[in-house]
Amino acid sequence: MADTAAVTVEAFGRPRIKPEHRAYRTVDGNVRVGSVIHGIGAEIADPRGWVWTLVEAMDGSRGPSEVVAEVLRGHPELSGADARQAMADLLAAGFVDDADASASLPPREQDRYSRGVPLLRWMDLAPRTSPWDAQLRLRESRVLLVGVGGTGGHAAQALVASGVGHVHCVDPDVVELSNLNRQPLYRESDLGRPKVEAALATLRALNSDVTVTGEHREVRGPEDLTELVAASALAGSPYDLLVLAADRPDAIRRWTNRACLAAELPWVDAGYRGPLVTAGVYVPGQGACWECLREGEIARRDLRLGPGQDPESASPRMPWNPASAVTAGLSGALLAHAALALLTGVPAMEPGFRFGVNLMLPGDPVHQRTPRRLDCPACGERT
Ligand SMILES: [Zn+2]
Repeated sequence: MADTAAVTVEAFGRPRIKPEHRAYRTVDGNVRVGSVIHGIGAEIADPRGWVWTLVEAMDGSRGPSEVVAEVLRGHPELSGADARQAMADLLAAGFVDDADASASLPPREQDRYSRGVPLLRWMDLAPRTSPWDAQLRLRESRVLLVGVGGTGGHAAQALVASGVGHVHCVDPDVVELSNLNRQPLYRESDLGRPKVEAALATLRALNSDVTVTGEHREVRGPEDLTELVAASALAGSPYDLLVLAADRPDAIRRWTNRACLAAELPWVDAGYRGPLVTAGVYVPGQGACWECLREGEIARRDLRLGPGQDPESASPRMPWNPASAVTAGLSGALLAHAALALLTGVPAMEPGFRFGVNLMLPGDPVHQRTPRRLDCPACGERT
């Protein structure tokens, strides 16, 4: 998982306000930096004008001491310590990278990921000298992907295209005609073929700079998940994350929760219930587990169930789980986002949380949060 070890001004050869975070001055003289996107930008009062001089000096052409000197040249009343502290504050807020930072990746991969890395840089609010750190982290990551249908197929495409170093796919099905309205890894020529086999061919053709493996296998109980997770650890290279994109058998989320808690393995899942598409983020020991969140959500919804009624009876669940290219695509994309965010720390992702989109009310926020439950049968005994 991503760490955010302290990075100080001294670590920067030539500090630069990130190009995506370019500053501007408001009509009343404040400095806005970090883009105007909610969750990133900040506004700094600048009555004497020296903050503007500072951000202009941080254009990647100077070392930290030269930046301070440039600010003091225009504002001799200021102390060097104040200017340096302001630079440190901008750095700590994630608005700065190092113009001297080099990409320690082969040129081919620098080119391949040349659009994704600036997006990581844009969303990254942890102090970091090089935007390539997050890409390197993906390159070293190992992911277990359970299910390569609609959600899993879209997620697999995104993970492999983004440069996750090793993706291992598990799925029990063969490709059917009714899959093709939403499952992007398959063609008509794949009908009757095991999904894993066809998925591997498509994913390897997409990105030969990463490793994609798989197995045609059904998850029949929690012990299958435990075994899948343990296999990589036994081989000396444990998974960093489990990505659940299967909704059968019905208990697969509960099993995954238990298996990942036992293995202390973070996991993410996503899926749809009609037009409602959500993804969840779980990190053992941090925040609610899947069972905590589910219980909290049932309580929040106030379903007013009669005695003996199961919460499932309030929400239709059909064997032909209705889905389109849109719901599967959104579900897979949200799942991949959650996975990439947990692997890189970009953006920082709150564990024990579900988020999503309701296509009936696309402007309304969809999120589920609940505190970790001390009496949770899955995680309650854990420290
Ligand atoms: Zn729990």
